[in-house]
Amino acid sequence: MNSGLTIQHMFDYATTYFPDQTIVCRKPEGTIRLSYQEFGHRTRRLAAALMALGVGPGDRVGTFLWNDLPHLEAYFAVPLIGGVLHTINIRLPADQLLYLVNHPEDRVLIVDRTLWPALAPLRERLTSVTAIILTGRSPDPDPLGTLDYDTILEETDGHFDYPAVQETMPMGLCYTSATTGNPKGVLYSHRGMYLHSLTLGLANTLGISLEDTVLPIVPMFHVNAWGIPFAAVWFGAKMVLPGPAPQASTLLDLMRDESVTLAAGVPTVWLSIARELEARPTRLALRAAVAGGSAAPATLIRLFESTFRIPFIHAYGMTETSPLVTVSRLKPHHRTLSDEEQLAIKATQGFLVPGLAMKLERDQHPVPWDGESVGELCLQGPWIADEYYRDPRTRDTFIDGWLHTGDLASVTQEGYVHLRDRTKDVIKSGGEWISSVDLENALMAHPAVFEAAVVSVPHPQWGERPLAFVVVKEGRSATQEELRKSLRDRFAKWQLPDGILFVPEIPKSSVGKFLKRALRDAYRDYFQPSSGE
Ligand code: AMP
Repeated sequence: MNSGLTIQHMFDYATTYFPDQTIVCRKPEGTIRLSYQEFGHRTRRLAAALMALGVGPGDRVGTFLWNDLPHLEAYFAVPLIGGVLHTINIRLPADQLLYLVNHPEDRVLIVDRTLWPALAPLRERLTSVTAIILTGRSPDPDPLGTLDYDTILEETDGHFDYPAVQETMPMGLCYTSATTGNPKGVLYSHRGMYLHSLTLGLANTLGISLEDTVLPIVPMFHVNAWGIPFAAVWFGAKMVLPGPAPQASTLLDLMRDESVTLAAGVPTVWLSIARELEARPTRLALRAAVAGGSAAPATLIRLFESTFRIPFIHAYGMTETSPLVTVSRLKPHHRTLSDEEQLAIKATQGFLVPGLAMKLERDQHPVPWDGESVGELCLQGPWIADEYYRDPRTRDTFIDGWLHTGDLASVTQEGYVHLRDRTKDVIKSGGEWISSVDLENALMAHPAVFEAAVVSVPHPQWGERPLAFVVVKEGRSATQEELRKSLRDRFAKWQLPDGILFVPEIPKSSVGKFLKRALRDAYRDYFQPSSGE
């Protein structure tokens, strides 16, 4: 009963019992198909190659990759040898990327050639990296001193003995954005990921099984693509990987051609797929369109369930929680409710998956589960982190054995969580975080700006977008374009505010703090189509 819960076991099980199962990977140059047996050989070779490069238990291997075959191979190869798979968000600006590699002291990086230009200017400052392995194709010559992924796989036979791995050892690392400053890292243990993966197989949650064809649209650098690749491979599902920068039309074709039964992505992605489906109705085998990462609007759920007849599953979680926390499933007695009442339940974040514990708290007091009272959601369980990696900010979030999520929710008597707001001052746009505080500080650093506030405003496509309010110093002037330009060096293009509004003053509380809630309420409809914006 005390045998270890490790990724090694999951990998061996998958390759032993499902050698003929298929992995499909879309590539610009054509789709690749291989069996789990071939995948197993390649993964062992990668593991052996990484060992030859000096990667041992506890060493971090960074990935800077799309959802493609090398990424899936790294998912298993790195933990097999006791290493820590550190998936790096390819969309972040340069200063954060530098921190993301240097802070955990990544030893080896596996990088898609098409993404290399984002890392190349930082190369000399990546202090811990001893080897860079490049995957895919690029018209540009390879930078000096890098290794080719396929060549290193060919140079080893993949035979090696697994190093001893304890279930409590770390197997993965993922960083999440903070309100301000550098991102915060979360380590995942073998045990946590094993139990989390088992949970994804439960019929009450996603029910991933050998009958499924699974398409992770959510990037594999976002909380391990919600753990789906680990569960899908372990349980022998057919895997479909969308490859570089997939568009809605490509995703729809893939779902149709490969008879995908379960696909997972943020609501923004499902919205684009819905538009595509409306434009060209397509017969799909989807039994579950899984959305999470931000709130799935009821209109989107209705579109899928009523118009396309595709069951829609709304889930909630965060980087600190591996991520699965709640899934919005109806209970049998809800079937007698009206369609609209059922829809309202499905649009909540759902109830807790087995294995976790949850409480609602306000000012350190419990908040009743009455569907109205709002408190901060706190979580505990075997796949909930209990610290940030090498980060003093741990003490603000992990208190008395509970993760304080920063999400404000009400909970019904039946346990359905309804997220209402968040205490963290950040904006989630298309599943990616933008720090309003960092934008404000950067705007206020401009010589013409007296003060600036950036708030999150609902957006029909992206969920939320940043809107900036600026008070110009007396006797000075500034244009939107000028201010946007001043932000461009520090922020990625998608992080820039969609609008910069010049106002005479920013509303403040009695103690002089920005009343951002007033701005958010006043501009709630700013991006709604009828507002003319
Ligand atoms: P991340 O760590 O990037 O996965 O972000 C986690 C945060 O995203 C949560 O703390 C929530 O604020 C938000 N989030 C995730 N899933 C949902 C959801 N289904 N509905 C609303 N917000 C969500």
